[in-house]
Parts: sequence; structure tokens; C-alpha cells
Amino acid sequence: MGKITGFKEFTRKTEPYRDATERLKDFAEIYTPHNEEHLRTQGARCMDCGVPFCQSDTGCPVDNLIPEWNDLVYNGRWQDANTRLHLTNNFPEFTGRVCPAPCEGSCVLGYNEPAVTIKNIECAIVDRAFDEGWIKAKKPEKRSGKKVAVVGSGPAGLAAAEQLNALGHSVTVYERADRIGGLLMYGIPNMKLEKKLIDRRVQLMRDAGVNFVLNADVGKNVDVKKLMQDNDALLLATGATVPRDLPIDGRKLNGIHFAMDFLTANTKSLLDSNLKDGNYISAKDKHVVVIGGGDTGTDCIGTSLRHGCKSVVNFELMNKPPKERAANNPWPTWPLIFRVDYGHDEAAKVQGEDPRTYCVLSKKFSGDAKGNVTSVTTINVEWTTDASGKMQMKEIAGSEKEWKADLVLLAMGFLGPEHYISDALGVAYDQRSNYKAEYGKYATIIKGVFAAGDCRRGQSLVVWGINEGREAAENIHRFLLPK
Ligand SMILES: Cc1cc2nc3c(=O)[nH]c(=O)nc-3n(C[C@H](O)[C@H](O)[C@H](O)COP(=O)(O)OP(=O)(O)OC[C@H]3O[C@@H](n4cnc5c(N)ncnc54)[C@H](O)[C@@H]3O)c2cc1C
Ligand code: SF4
Repeated sequence: MGKITGFKEFTRKTEPYRDATERLKDFAEIYTPHNEEHLRTQGARCMDCGVPFCQSDTGCPVDNLIPEWNDLVYNGRWQDANTRLHLTNNFPEFTGRVCPAPCEGSCVLGYNEPAVTIKNIECAIVDRAFDEGWIKAKKPEKRSGKKVAVVGSGPAGLAAAEQLNALGHSVTVYERADRIGGLLMYGIPNMKLEKKLIDRRVQLMRDAGVNFVLNADVGKNVDVKKLMQDNDALLLATGATVPRDLPIDGRKLNGIHFAMDFLTANTKSLLDSNLKDGNYISAKDKHVVVIGGGDTGTDCIGTSLRHGCKSVVNFELMNKPPKERAANNPWPTWPLIFRVDYGHDEAAKVQGEDPRTYCVLSKKFSGDAKGNVTSVTTINVEWTTDASGKMQMKEIAGSEKEWKADLVLLAMGFLGPEHYISDALGVAYDQRSNYKAEYGKYATIIKGVFAAGDCRRGQSLVVWGINEGREAAENIHRFLLPK
């Protein structure tokens, strides 16, 4: 433990983002450079608890050794902290930027004081390690002679590929997109996670011996049966890519898009041509309505503002969360509280108010003679709980409202993975249409075929993708070992 009285002496202070007005002028990262002295003080707040909930249970899904590296950072031992960090997390430079930090929700200090700034410290450790050249490609000492194909290059596929390669297996990652990274690349926008960080990590993996095949849509332009024959095991890490639609009147009007079509095209155009090729859906001078909250909704708000939209509003069907934990949401569970993310803050700076409206149900889209959307009609709803504890939604008569809209972005979550590859293999599904494979085992009903990440657990988080990729790799390794 760094400083015994640290938690009494110092208060929590997270690293600030760049000023909202400034950062809205570009797509560069929203973060400011790390201040290591400040972070050492923050690390000193860690109490090195007997039971560190932050690193297990409801805390960090990859079981990062948080109290250990907090102490090392406080003592200025950054290289040792980096070694500890990479024991459990393949890609801390991603989680250190985009993870919602369930660890902080279950930090013991967070019981009656603000939690330790764990995520900032994680990010500073790995960024310093890259700057110092401490992170190097490591080729395995010997090869096992076994071959594994990984389908999908999101955090789950990448973590599995890195682990399997380190164990000596020959790994090829097949990705249908033109760039590696899954939603790290084409979901989360550049201002939250700069794409050069993904390329840097992928290069290290290539140098360590992992093969990557781009534009390889397995089940379409790559024969999945042949892939089975040519490999000793196959890991499906294809993500949950089927978006939830909103089939109300007017859905077919021009200008209504799934959030992922908007975000993917923006990042691709940004990387290909700095948005010069015009191959993206522009929000410039438009009234934008984002339907659905969460990370995807926030990213649509931030991107629309950077395009120079006229206005942006965000509809949320559920109640506004409370400021503090509710009685049925005690520590150390994830706090379901009202949060202001980067996009909300930016919209408030530009428009003078938070863009979110709660308890709003979209009823219909209206358009002009050319078939372009012009407005969304909504009705307010109220939520009650019935005798069995189930939430019930009721529309409030007379609360209809029409909102101007030239661009509507549907960000209402995802329904599960696409099925063409799994159908071709004969993989079974669970009740939510995800690939059926038990958590902790990852084996599907087809021998030698495994599944990990969002395609198995449903829409989730980067850190859970890394967790599942790592664990699936262990299970595949056991499967490949000589019996
Ligand atoms: C807009 C958005 C913002 C998000 N923001 C955050 C955030 O801030 N923090 C956070 O923790 N999580 C966030 N998430 C969630 C997080 O990105 C996902 O949970 C995570 O990426 C899932 O990882 P995965 O590896 O399972 O799948 P994915 O990242 O979805 O990767 C799957 C990959 O498989 C490829 N693929 C699919 N089928 C095939 C096929 N047949 N052949 C070849 N390739 C195929 C896809 O092209 C894709 O590249 C966000 C999600 C979205 C949509
Ligand atoms: S990966 Fe997420 S949960 Fe784990 S230590 Fe980092 S920020 Fe916390």
C-alpha cells in the first residue's frame, strides 16, 4: 500500500477532457495528456483493502491487479506496474480510454467516498509503457503445429488470437471489414479511441506471428467448411451486429439510418480521406434526432456536433436515472445513476442544455413530397411497477409532440449476431439468438467450434470481449493439447 493515509488526505480528481468548445473542432481524442505526479497522488488513495472488490466479483471483468499497480504507480515503479497490467489485460490502452470502469463502481473507498481513479491510472501506465518502448512483440519460443482460425477482429477475437499465438498455435484472424478492430475500429469514434492505437497493437501482433486476412467474409467469400478442414479449431468472435429497428409509420423515409451506418461511414471516410471523399452521412446544418441512449447514442451526438448539425436531441424511453444510487442498487453493484458523457457535455455547451429527453416514445416519422424525413412525433410515457415487480409502460394522453428532424439515427441496441456463418456450421442458438456456448467453456455444439464476445453474450463491453477472448483461448488450448 502506497500511502497509509492517502485516502484521507487526497480527494478524487479525474483527468480532464479537452475543453468541449475546442475538441468539437476536430475528431482527435478528447483526452488531455497524463499528469504522472497527479496520478501518483490518486494511486495513493487506494486502501489496498483486504477484499479488493475492484478486481473481482462485480468489479473488473479481466481481474486487473488494481491495488498492486496503484501501489507501484504511487512508488514511481511504472515499468513494474505495466508488467502487472499486461498479466491480465491484453489491451489496456483500449480499456483505459473506453471502459465504463465497473472497477470504480465497486471500489471499497466508493462505499462512502469517491472511488479511486482506476481507469485513468490504467491508461497512464500503458501509455507510458508505449512511450518508453517497454511493450514489444513477443514471438512464441516454439510452435505447437496446431492451427486456429478466429473469425472477427474485435476485442474478443484479438485477445483470443494474442493468447493462442503466445501458446504456440498458428493463428489466422479473418475480418470481413477493410480494417482490423471490430467495433473498436468502426463503432467507437476516433475522438474516444484513436485508430492509430489499434493499428499499433495489431502491428505488434503481426510481429509476434499472428496472421490477419482482411475483406474475408467467412460464410460468404470464404468457405467456412474449408476453414474447418484447414484448421484444428475455429473461434467465432463475430459480434452482435443485428441492430434493433423501429418499425413505425414513415420508417422508410430518406434520412433515417441505423447509428452504426452513420458511425462506420464517418470513421472510414475520416481514415481514408479526412472526410474529403464525402462517403459518409453528413449531419451538417441538419436537425438531428438520436433515438436511444447508451454509448452508441452518445457517439452519434458527438459525431453530429462535429459535422456542424443545427440541433441534436436524444430520446430515451426509460426514466431519468437518479443522481445517487437507489436503495435497490447498493454498493458494490454497478451504480445506475445519471451520468454526463462527453457528447452530452458538448451538446450542452453548444445548445445550452443537455440533449436528452426521458420517458419519450417515438410514434411516427413524417416527411416531405420528396420522401425525406422532416419530423418525429412522440408521446410521453410513465413507468409503474405491477404487483409482480414487472415494469409497465403507459402512454400519457395529450402529450404528443412533433420534433423537427432532417436526420434520424436509430441507436436502440442490438438483437444478436448474424446467422449466416453459424447456420452454415450448424451452431445452436440461445433464447436471445446468440451462439449457444456456456460462459467459461465457450464450446458450441459443434466439435472444435468455439464462440466468444458479443456473439455469445449479447451486446456488451470491450472489457468483457477481452475477458471472453482470453478464456476461450485457454479452452481452445486445452482442446488442442494431445489427449
Ligand atoms: C457505437 C458503439 C460504441 C461503443 N462504445 C463502447 C465503449 O465506450 N466502451 C465499451 O466498453 N464498449 C463499447 N461498445 C461495445 C463494444 O464495442 C463491444 O461490446 C465489443 O466491441 C464487442 O467485441 P467483440 O469482439 O465481441 O465484437 P465486435 O467488436 O463487434 O467485432 C466483431 C467483428 O467480427 C466481424 N465479423 C462478423 N461476422 C463476420 C464474418 N462472417 N466473417 C468475418 N468477420 C466477421 C465484424 O466485422 C467485426 O469486426 C460500443 C459499441 C458500439 C456499437
Ligand atoms: S479494464 Fe475497466 S474494469 Fe478493468 S481496471 Fe480497467 S477500467 Fe476498470
